[in-house]
Amino acid sequence: MRDFSADHRWLSLNTATVRRQGDLLEIIEACARHGIRAIDPWRDQVAAIGLERAARTLRDAGLELSGYCRGGMFTSDAAHRIEARDDNRRAVDEAKALGAPCVVLVVGGLPQYSRPGSVASKDIPAARAQVEEAIAEMMEYARDARMPLAIEPLHPAYAADRACVNTTRQALDICDRLDGGRTGALGVALDVYHIWWDVELLGQISRAGKGRLLAFHVCDWLVPTKDILNDRGMMGDGVIDIRSVRRAVEAEGFEGYCEIEIFSEDWWRKPIDEVLRTCIDRHRTVV
Ligand code: ZN
Repeated sequence: MRDFSADHRWLSLNTATVRRQGDLLEIIEACARHGIRAIDPWRDQVAAIGLERAARTLRDAGLELSGYCRGGMFTSDAAHRIEARDDNRRAVDEAKALGAPCVVLVVGGLPQYSRPGSVASKDIPAARAQVEEAIAEMMEYARDARMPLAIEPLHPAYAADRACVNTTRQALDICDRLDGGRTGALGVALDVYHIWWDVELLGQISRAGKGRLLAFHVCDWLVPTKDILNDRGMMGDGVIDIRSVRRAVEAEGFEGYCEIEIFSEDWWRKPIDEVLRTCIDRHRTVV
């Protein structure tokens, strides 16, 4: 396993971690101040400053990307299907322009939540079938752009509103069905927040292998968790044995960035330099 104790060269910042503290330009400047080499920006943050300006600023700052957040929200009623498809195609185009290594997919839950305005449904098997069909369709487009897609399984608490793909096994089953030849077009983004509790986790990580492990996200699970969406913990403040998960992905050959992704009302209230200093310290001592 890589030794992170002496530097933070493998730290990437998911820009949602400091989304309240500044726009993407300010976040990029802060990363430069702290010697952070990579980020994973969100589409709304890129749109707010403009795609071309974002791409140029990233290049000038010499920043790499560890992913692009996010595509997906595939589930919708028939009236919103084209909108969802086109939106995901734009995500691929943007990722390409920014030089991202993959588009992270949060696949969507029930249609009324992932594509508001859709007719309400309680049919989660149908939602899952729709997700798979839509990923197959998006893959055709992404393959032409040579942009890998990374399915992020989300904790089951999000099954209704954000993602009906909830385990690593489920995500890998989709990968096997749609990309059985392991061409590199499809894989998973593993986020310790969503998967740490899973009894099958280590076995599924070795099933994934290097070829399917496209991204690795870290934060921590606080006890109690006051808000399932916006009360993620800083690494080391919760109960996840982050290092054991990192050991497992690196045993498969994963050698990419460890991306810090913390949605937290507490951390959003702190100055950006304090947040980044803490991220770097915990990356070296806990991740
Ligand atoms: Zn994540």
